[in-house]
Amino acid sequence: MPASSSRSPSAAPLAPNAVIGIVGGGQLGRMSAVAAAKLGFRAHILTQDPHGPAAQVAHQVTLGAYDDHKALDAFARAVDVITFEFENISADALDCLAQHCPVRPSGAILRTSQDRLAEKTFLSDADIPLAPWMAVTDHASLHAAAETLGFPFILKTTRNGYDGKGQARVYEASQLEAAFASLAPHPLVAEGMVDFACEISVMVVRGTDGTTRCFAPGLNYHRDGILDLTLAPAPVQEETAQRAQALATAIAEKLDLIGILGVEMFIDRTGTLLVNEIAPRPHNSGHWTMDACPADQFDMHIRAVAGLPLPPALRHSDAAMKNLVGPDDMALWPDILATPGHIPHLYGKAEARAGRKMGHVNILFPYGSLPGALGVQDALGPLADKPETEDNDQ
Ligand code: AMP
Repeated sequence: MPASSSRSPSAAPLAPNAVIGIVGGGQLGRMSAVAAAKLGFRAHILTQDPHGPAAQVAHQVTLGAYDDHKALDAFARAVDVITFEFENISADALDCLAQHCPVRPSGAILRTSQDRLAEKTFLSDADIPLAPWMAVTDHASLHAAAETLGFPFILKTTRNGYDGKGQARVYEASQLEAAFASLAPHPLVAEGMVDFACEISVMVVRGTDGTTRCFAPGLNYHRDGILDLTLAPAPVQEETAQRAQALATAIAEKLDLIGILGVEMFIDRTGTLLVNEIAPRPHNSGHWTMDACPADQFDMHIRAVAGLPLPPALRHSDAAMKNLVGPDDMALWPDILATPGHIPHLYGKAEARAGRKMGHVNILFPYGSLPGALGVQDALGPLADKPETEDNDQ
């Protein structure tokens, strides 16, 4: 588990009862607010939804849009430090907030991560391995990308792409123009299609004293473009796990991060790691830490934001994290509650719409005993994948 200490942008730690401002009212804000409360801090949420997941558990709420300068100003004056739980606030708004109190991670980091082109440029400049990519600004660069990357490749929007949205796969030249026209705004990013063996992610946190801590990589499975299941630790070679942690740490240091960062990576068929994207906030794929670690991703994030020391990112158990998405998974709630070993986390959302993340379940295994796929499905009980429907014609 690499831990390192780089530059020291030191700052006085927040005292108990200090107020941590969290921009965003979703589940990541909710779990951050609970972590803040555990450490004796008060969470103050900036959100438009007075009944949202974070507002339900917060000490105080400022209601307002993320570009409402009056609301931003009032919020910033009422807190001691600010963090954010999602990336849809403008980095300019964060810079405004930073005139009143520290914003961690910084607006500059958000500016990099919320624009795929800026992100890829930053990571390439930092010598982080990526899938081959090119900026696509017009028809000429679209055709140049097809020529250089070859088919198939993926076109992605630079902004607001999440859970697989804002992407088009291009398999042949005849699809080029339609794919380009289907995505907006331009410019786009074209990426070579990675024939990956698996997708992993690493949560890395960096404190105000430059200390970094890295949780074990998790192995991620998606369904309909949405994270479905994370297994931790990812069953990969120790050398690969260490390299993944070293890459995440290098990115955190290069960004001069204070707070937590999720780094998603592919492992290709040759065992090579390629970074897909970064998110400077707690991450869905890090939820397994909530029950498998003495200090989870939210505790670590709040500690970093508050200038407290970071304990090692220890894991006392192996874990499977299963997301509860939409009405179908929520229909299983009574069964989940009745299943021994299922540790439920619900986000308090009023309505279970299709594709909406409603909560998650963690299942623990003794340290070093994460079972294989069949064992995991067995442990998932009512949440196990349904067998394919059989053709009962005869
Ligand atoms: P993203 O929005 O970049 O996180 O991509 C969403 C999902 O699309 C990823 O989790 C992958 O499963 C898939 N994907 C994205 N980029 C690539 C790529 N270059 N090659 C293959 N699959 C990809």
